[in-house]
Amino acid sequence: MAPVAITPESSGTTTPTTASGLTQAGIKHAHPPSKSEAPLDASRMKVTLTQTPRQVPEPNSPEVMAQKTCTDHMVTARWTVENGWDAPELKPYGAFSIMPTASVLHYATECFEGLKLYRGFDGRLRLFRVAKNCERFRKSAARIALPDFDPAEVAKLIIALCARDGAKWLPKERAGSFLYIRPTMIATDEALGVQRPKEALLYIILACFPDMTKSIAAPAPPALNGETVTTSTKPASSGLKLLASNEDTIRAWPGGFGSAKVGANYGPSLVAQGEARSRGYDQVLWLFGQECYVTEAGASNFFIVIRDKDSQALQLITAPLHERIILEGVTRASVLHLAQERLSHANNGLEPVQVVEKRFTMADVIAAHDEGRLVEAFAAGTAFFIAPISAIHFRGRDLIIPTVGDSGVYARQIKAWLASIMYGQEDHEWGIVVEEEV
Ligand SMILES: *Cc1c(COP(=O)(O)O)cnc(C)c1O
Repeated sequence: MAPVAITPESSGTTTPTTASGLTQAGIKHAHPPSKSEAPLDASRMKVTLTQTPRQVPEPNSPEVMAQKTCTDHMVTARWTVENGWDAPELKPYGAFSIMPTASVLHYATECFEGLKLYRGFDGRLRLFRVAKNCERFRKSAARIALPDFDPAEVAKLIIALCARDGAKWLPKERAGSFLYIRPTMIATDEALGVQRPKEALLYIILACFPDMTKSIAAPAPPALNGETVTTSTKPASSGLKLLASNEDTIRAWPGGFGSAKVGANYGPSLVAQGEARSRGYDQVLWLFGQECYVTEAGASNFFIVIRDKDSQALQLITAPLHERIILEGVTRASVLHLAQERLSHANNGLEPVQVVEKRFTMADVIAAHDEGRLVEAFAAGTAFFIAPISAIHFRGRDLIIPTVGDSGVYARQIKAWLASIMYGQEDHEWGIVVEEEV
């Protein structure tokens, strides 16, 4: 397919937010809010503070590495078909009970989001493009017949939780670190019949996560009290090593649900992920079809920079959204936007790149590699941030991806720009400041 240079505006990354917009996009909610059902309303939130506050673990301590520790509070909101949304609650973090017949336990009626709360080098807390996550959350919910809501209300609930727990759990001394935010919705309906759920629970938790991203171009954290604030858990020099998926294991297909962040996408990927790990690779590179279209890497979007054979121009290429077999990453959209805005002309000593969303195959990657036209590859997503890729294994062959030092130069530059926005070194509309309660 001929490459088509596109602008971020046409990249499919803008999301219609009105109900009619969603219908136009082919997404119909099982339960659009009606007049009798109460809408989700963050201003009705009830607050119950914990009586048993817990200790904040040290960064990258065994407790953090185990990825089980959440902050003191969580937000919940119950929905029923009769009444709509109950008043949301901010309350102590802890277990909740659901019936063994609950829809989510049988029919995977679950969707989620993943974003981060960042402690900036200016001492302030920030979210990154939280509205985009909330819009995607709404679309994911629609795909699995979970109830509709105004995404702006979920954003307010996320902000309320971050404001409550941020000061303690992401202290000012930890500039350059983050908490992981997991908004989730499950169908708690206790009817075992296969049907649209009549009851659901939306909840938001804040988790302590190890930093898997610090390795490359993030701004060097300043030393406070004579010690370095953060440590990297993985030597950057290695880069990610990807194992291309086999024909018998497909992550997503046209008409499926690969473009929704629903739990049903992830359980079935764990066998392939485990096999990749046991063979010494970090992530699966998900291919699609006999043509071996390159789609995504693990739970990250995948980018390559190649020199086009005909035009000799550099191109930053990633898979398109319209087939709905990849997840529409917020990081992906941001990479495309920044590359279009700042790299379509020579900048910081870097040759310009054309930004291209198109189908491409492993054969294209191999040809570029063998002809010396493969400049770099990287994965982009909230969890791994911008992760340079150093090798791809495909059907018995290891392709070694060039790096300059520990990263490709484009990955390093884009990562540095994004990190500056997240950690407050660049004032940008994507960085949403959270006023913390102290
Ligand atoms: C979450 C996710 C991504 C990355 O999305 P971001 O919004 O950038 O974090 C990419 N692919 C899959 C399959 C995902 O689940």
